[in-house]
Formats: sequence, C-alpha cells, structure tokens
Amino acid sequence: MVRLLGAWRRDLVCWDAVALMTDYLEGSLSSRRRARLERHLAACDGCEEYLRQMRVTIEVLGRVEPEDLEPEAREVLVELFLRYRAEVETDGDAGTDGNT
Ligand SMILES: [Zn+2]
Repeated sequence: MVRLLGAWRRDLVCWDAVALMTDYLEGSLSSRRRARLERHLAACDGCEEYLRQMRVTIEVLGRVEPEDLEPEAREVLVELFLRYRAEVETDGDAGTDGNT
C-alpha cells in the first residue's frame, strides 16, 4: 500500500487528478495528460470512485465542475489527501492513532 502511494506521489496527487477530470470527461485533455490521469485512476480507488460520480452527474446535468460535486465526495478526497500528506510526513513510521 505504501508502495502504491509512492507511485501515486510521483505521478499526480488527488487534487491534480480532480482538476483534470472535467477536461478528461469532456475529451479536451491532451493525450499526455490523459495518460497521467488514467495512471493515477488505476492506482487510486478514491479518484476512480470520484470519476464514476462525475460521470453520473454529467449524464444528469450535462456538465459538472468539482465545486458541483456532493460534499461527501469532496470530503473523501480531502481525507485521501490528508492521509497522503500524513504518509509522506511520517514516512517509515508504523505508528498511527489506531483510527483508520
Ligand atoms: Zn487520487
């Protein structure tokens, strides 16, 4: 899992991925950026789920901005991001709050 986060860190963090998602879904992303985003999605369950939600929302509304997403979806990403930050900062430290 930590290895996954390492790969993720080199590539994109979730905020970057989310910022690219609207363009991705509209097909206006460059092929290079699309490849990076797809690599992130393959490694990040949170963003994969987020993208799935965006797809559904777009089907209903026609278009969606990150701000339009459900607060819960954004909270999930914030949580992922904070967990990512914590992983980076406590690199190698196995101790946690026990609240996972
Ligand atoms: Zn992600």
